[in-house]
Amino acid sequence: MKSDNFYNFIIVGAGTAGLTAAITAARKGHSVVVLEKGAIAGPKPRGESMAHYPLLDEILGEGYLQSIAEVKPSHRVYHSPGDIKPAGNIDMKVPYYFFEWRTLIDRMVEIAKNLGVTFLFNSEVLKPIKEKNICKGVEYRNLSGEKQNIFGNVVLACDGYSSTIGSYYNIDYSKINCPIVKFLGNNANIDIEKVSSPQLYFIGNGDLDYTPGFPPSIAYVFPIGGKKIEAGLMLRMTKAFDMKSVKIPSEEEIMDVWKNLKINYPGFSNFFTGIKTEYEELTVMPNAGLVDNFILGNGGAILVGDSAGFIDANGSSGLYFGMKMAKVWVDLISELLINNQFDWTMQNRKYLTKQFKTSKIYKTINSSYKLIGLFEWMIFKKLRTGQRINRFWKLIMWLLQVAS
Ligand SMILES: Cc1cc2nc3c(=O)[nH]c(=O)nc-3n(C[C@H](O)[C@H](O)[C@H](O)COP(=O)(O)OP(=O)(O)OC[C@H]3O[C@@H](n4cnc5c(N)ncnc54)[C@H](O)[C@@H]3O)c2cc1C
Repeated sequence: MKSDNFYNFIIVGAGTAGLTAAITAARKGHSVVVLEKGAIAGPKPRGESMAHYPLLDEILGEGYLQSIAEVKPSHRVYHSPGDIKPAGNIDMKVPYYFFEWRTLIDRMVEIAKNLGVTFLFNSEVLKPIKEKNICKGVEYRNLSGEKQNIFGNVVLACDGYSSTIGSYYNIDYSKINCPIVKFLGNNANIDIEKVSSPQLYFIGNGDLDYTPGFPPSIAYVFPIGGKKIEAGLMLRMTKAFDMKSVKIPSEEEIMDVWKNLKINYPGFSNFFTGIKTEYEELTVMPNAGLVDNFILGNGGAILVGDSAGFIDANGSSGLYFGMKMAKVWVDLISELLINNQFDWTMQNRKYLTKQFKTSKIYKTINSSYKLIGLFEWMIFKKLRTGQRINRFWKLIMWLLQVAS
């Protein structure tokens, strides 16, 4: 059913999860509207590397992901604290590609538009509209600053790591989010013939002499192609809330550490000689925890992608997992959307939750929190310092190989 302001699927947020949901729902013949607060889809760059699973061909077109990738690494390279031990290679079990964010997003928007999806840009969703705690639509502010309502059978909250919809239902994102610095640079000191794999540098708890209290972190450099790199600093907080001694640093402290790492961290800083910064931002990756319930209130709204913390705990595959989650939820909802009507009965909510929680994708993510959590607990709580991490480096590399 489609009227001026009623749609089968209201999708909040035009990131990779929202766009996948839109494409999947439109291909099934549903009416779909996407509300995006930015002037364009995916206004801020997020991840720019992804493993190649069949879903990518299904959504983007056969072979599209490979076609936009300049670099096709076969392994990840891990460096011990201070780059003291020999770097360890971990093979990628699934082909992995780097690409540019804008290219990926524009492709998804083009596909969705061709399928008849309505896009409302510059439209910030303010809150859900509820009746008997069932979400019936959303209130949003349009380009002219006016508040408007839009209604539908289901609202998919794909609005990212600080979801307005999720927050409205009291999701505590401070327990889900982890700080991360995102950096894009050109003219990096990199020879792509020799270094074409992601480089990851472990930093032990409190190891940086200029910031003794800094928590366990991983700095990384991803070669995108030519002299371009993506780089960053991930704070590892999977178990941080259980680590009494670990405190989340202030934004100033994180940026100060980042500045220092670019100048003088063994191995890592070499890439930054002569670099031209194109983008630099302290942002968030929601890989510290996962929400308990994906269906909000008595139904009507569902958290999808980053808004649900649906990233594997090491933070490497949020794009794919969010996209897959979007596809699974659209498929599940479509099963019960009869004559363009959806009944948010308790029975239907229970059925959907059970179907999702027994899906392979949910089990993978859920176990990643246990496995990676355990791994990081061992490294960062038991071994803690760079010195001890270096001493057990062979064991760590072996565990990484087993877990990957
Ligand atoms: C620095 C960094 C590096 C990463 N690297 C990788 C990687 O290499 N590989 C990988 O797979 N994953 C990576 N990730 C994770 C991955 O990028 C995310 O998991 C993924 O982008 C989540 O997609 P999403 O659609 O759920 O959310 P988002 O991409 O964040 O999309 C949310 C959208 O909602 C919009 N929005 C927000 N609030 C509102 C509102 N109130 N109303 C309307 N619109 C709204 C936003 O503008 C945005 O367009 C990385 C993340 C970061 C931050």
